[in-house]
Amino acid sequence: MTVLEQGTITIHTENIFPIIKKSLYTDHEVFLRELVSNAVDAIAKLNMVSRSGEYSGDIGEPEITITVDKDNKTLSITDNGIGMTADEVKKYINQVAFSSAEEFIEKYKASSNDAIIGHFGLGFYSSFMVARQVEIDTLSYKEGAQAVHWTCDGSPIFQLEDSGRIQRGTTITLTLMDEEIEYTEPSRIRQLIKTYCDFMPVPIKLDGETINRQKAPWRESPNNLTQEDYLELYRYLYPFQEEPLLWVHLNTDYPFIVNGILYFPKLKPDVDVTQGNIKLFCNQVFVSDHCEDIIPKFLMPLRGVIDSTDIPLNISRSALQTNRTVRKIADYVAKKVADRLKELYRDNRKEYIRCWQDIGTFVKFGSLNDDKFKKQVEDILIYRTTYTPEPVNNEEKAVEVQVQTEEGDVWQEVASQTPENTDEKGRYYSTLSEYLERNQKRHENRVFYCTDETTQATYIQLHTSQGLEVLFLDSFIDSHFISFLEREHTEVKFSRVDAELDDNLIDQDNNSEIVDPKTNKTRSELIKDLFTAALNKPKLTIRTESLKSENTPPAMVLLPEFMRRLQDMTAL
Ligand code: ADP
Ligand code: MG
Repeated sequence: MTVLEQGTITIHTENIFPIIKKSLYTDHEVFLRELVSNAVDAIAKLNMVSRSGEYSGDIGEPEITITVDKDNKTLSITDNGIGMTADEVKKYINQVAFSSAEEFIEKYKASSNDAIIGHFGLGFYSSFMVARQVEIDTLSYKEGAQAVHWTCDGSPIFQLEDSGRIQRGTTITLTLMDEEIEYTEPSRIRQLIKTYCDFMPVPIKLDGETINRQKAPWRESPNNLTQEDYLELYRYLYPFQEEPLLWVHLNTDYPFIVNGILYFPKLKPDVDVTQGNIKLFCNQVFVSDHCEDIIPKFLMPLRGVIDSTDIPLNISRSALQTNRTVRKIADYVAKKVADRLKELYRDNRKEYIRCWQDIGTFVKFGSLNDDKFKKQVEDILIYRTTYTPEPVNNEEKAVEVQVQTEEGDVWQEVASQTPENTDEKGRYYSTLSEYLERNQKRHENRVFYCTDETTQATYIQLHTSQGLEVLFLDSFIDSHFISFLEREHTEVKFSRVDAELDDNLIDQDNNSEIVDPKTNKTRSELIKDLFTAALNKPKLTIRTESLKSENTPPAMVLLPEFMRRLQDMTAL
């Protein structure tokens, strides 16, 4: 093959601006997020140079001011941050996509507290999506710096001249295109700041009023936050919703940076759990309401905030899903959620049981969908059971303890606690292994369960009257969960209460039935004969032991498990 010509492709910058203007972001509104991020960065940088001792002047109260002028179609953003020298304007502004963020972090060893947003989106040049002219008026903090004024109309030609500015910092002024004058509307600006910049750590002012919340509790240490702080954030993010059950505070610096607070809401049956409710932030800047591609599906019912600078923002959804860091972050989040549940199980069983209705569904769903999560939570999976612990005799168990008071030591009577494994209705909960251990003698490796407390009430009673313990697997997720349990515990036999029961499990000691003198058979035996003949199903089991109790029906017809399942299937 003959090479006809070889060379370098040249990019004519004239071609870039129309691209920025038209197709950079479908949402033009994000230009404001970019400019405010730069202003916040400029203030963070000033703090850093001041702390390093390089700048000894007064840094003043940090603030960002937005002004709009409908008549002149202008919008400007002013900060009292670090400012720029003429050289810096030439370096960082005139060269598209040249950021100073990294240099800064390197030089001043930024801590995660003054993290610089930088590299967020296209940055400064996104202002050309809405502006036909952009001006920068800036004065650097550096001693003897000359203020400069830069103007550009969106063509690659710019103007740089001296400015008369005397305040340190920067003002960016956009002269908006006619089709973009919505950005001179204060209500529109207010709304955009609420969306994107609400939690940015510097006051943003419009018409003399601070319009952002600033405090991002997820960036604080959990030790500095009260229960009320967490609830307050939840109410703010999800107004008019029921209080959350519990929450998890995420904060790690290594091997990736993730901060956040995730809440467990009360799960309502009508809530679409496939639709994410978690808000994604990057350095306190709002990115999106959708975390579906970042965290595992089973965490979707959670709400709250994930803030990470390590989640790539400008890659496709599919690339995001396979991105290694994103996968690791997802694992980290799932592990933290599991840890929080384990902690609650260990430290506050009563509360764990109170929340179980809601978190149980979640934990089961997670176990079904995620192997790692399954392993993390397998020991804290609990089931409601018919087991009733020995009643606690309050009088007997009440104890006296010595308490120190101002009047000296006194003895105080402390009432005993209700059993900690019960819910507010006194219903007992236990793990599968506790269940098996408790019943080892009576029905080793057998689990009796019911799927509907009401329709299976007689069967449940039949079992309990025989001293057999029944688990309730009666929530909507349990129909899937039973097969999962069978796969997980192959050594255990799971029988639904309306399935047949082995004879050896029937309590024989307690047999005091009347014997019919004519046939010399017990009444149970007679009834069995009768049913077997009438139904002509040799596989049928007839249980009559409940004849001994007044409250149960005289006899019960039980089908073998396979027949029962068959019946369930045909019923569908
Ligand atoms: P990035 O924020 O990723 O650094 P930008 O395109 O948003 O990229 O900004 C480019 C550079 O311009 C910044 O790194 C900073 O040096 C400079 N800059 C932009 N806005 C300001 C400002 N308000 N004050 C000081 N410097 C600024
Ligand atoms: Mg930027």
